[in-house]
Amino acid sequence: MNPSASKLELLERCAPSGALGAVWVESTSDQRAGTGRHRFAQLVDERGVEAALAEIPADAPWRAQCEALAEHLAELPTGEHEVAYAYDVATDTARRLGPWLDRAYDVGPTEVSGTTDLLCPPGEGRERYLLVDYKGEEEVAPAASNLQLGFYALCIARVLGLDEIDVAIVYLRQGGGLRWDRATLDVFALEAVASRVRSLVTAIEAARHAYALGDALDYGTGLHCRRCPALTLCPAMVQLARALLAEPVTPERLAPLSDDDAGRAWVELKVLGELVDRGRAALDERAKLRGLPLPDGARLVPVEQTRRALLLDRAEAVLRAKFGDQVDGVIERSLSAEAVGRLARQLAPGKGHKAAAEALWAELDAAHAVRRSSFVQLRTKPARPTTTSTDGEP
Ligand code: SF4
Repeated sequence: MNPSASKLELLERCAPSGALGAVWVESTSDQRAGTGRHRFAQLVDERGVEAALAEIPADAPWRAQCEALAEHLAELPTGEHEVAYAYDVATDTARRLGPWLDRAYDVGPTEVSGTTDLLCPPGEGRERYLLVDYKGEEEVAPAASNLQLGFYALCIARVLGLDEIDVAIVYLRQGGGLRWDRATLDVFALEAVASRVRSLVTAIEAARHAYALGDALDYGTGLHCRRCPALTLCPAMVQLARALLAEPVTPERLAPLSDDDAGRAWVELKVLGELVDRGRAALDERAKLRGLPLPDGARLVPVEQTRRALLLDRAEAVLRAKFGDQVDGVIERSLSAEAVGRLARQLAPGKGHKAAAEALWAELDAAHAVRRSSFVQLRTKPARPTTTSTDGEP
């Protein structure tokens, strides 16, 4: 199986993951959000923003990201979406495979493939091609050294004969808003990417050879294992699970750990949690088909349930006729921060949108119409510092 661009960073951390007979699973919310964003971009292209938003389930975790994207579409540079490329490590050449291929790549044995999010040609105020890759909230390697982004840039540079290309990671924030991390990759940076990809392919080949001979492989475990398609097949994970089962992790055992050891334990439990989730999801799917006998003689059986959703306008008329004003006490009205953002856009479309949104929030604050609460969310930040970053500006 040829490596794909979205797995390059993972493979660079653990080349043996490319040697195991992996099954592609969309295991993390980030991966599902990525697929959701691609589908959204495709639908925007085909049917327009409103129709594309209507296709996203209300409770989909990537809905807020797509709403943020929809809100800022007018200020994003125009260009071509979702074009697949393949880079040949044997010839240092690349080819354009085509747009909207839905990951159905037809590639040769020495090719690595991937699909760009957005490529904008030079134009007013932009002297070079600009390549944009969308991400969710979770921070990835900086644009200047991000291998996935660099790989796309390399493909485009080779196809179009470019020496330099601008690249950007655009983070789509849950509450609306974009964060840009920009860099320019020159001829040396592009050559460095080519060298990384070639070394990686060589390392994967070596790992496959060793695996076929039954030799021990040097697995690189870490938080990246959550995204590994080979997670459920990985001997290093089996070893980790055995070690944890032999000495179960309890709060009492964790309390005296140093911060470094506690950080290591956090990563191990996070990865094993993903392993357990994948196993449970597989068993759930199996049980949904024909049920499962349980050890105590009980049976796990699939039961079809109906979920009800009310269409407020019609339901209110029926209930009001029967219960009068009591209905006012049970109707829950809501207004989301995203909806306020969309309304603010009407005040100042384009680049003035951010200031207009802030002014509107200030007005709502002054009217005591905003209740704030804070919560703590845990996020991982890459070890390398971000070199270039501009908030909110395309
Ligand atoms: S689960 Fe982790 S250690 Fe195992 S193959 Fe995948 S990336 Fe490597």
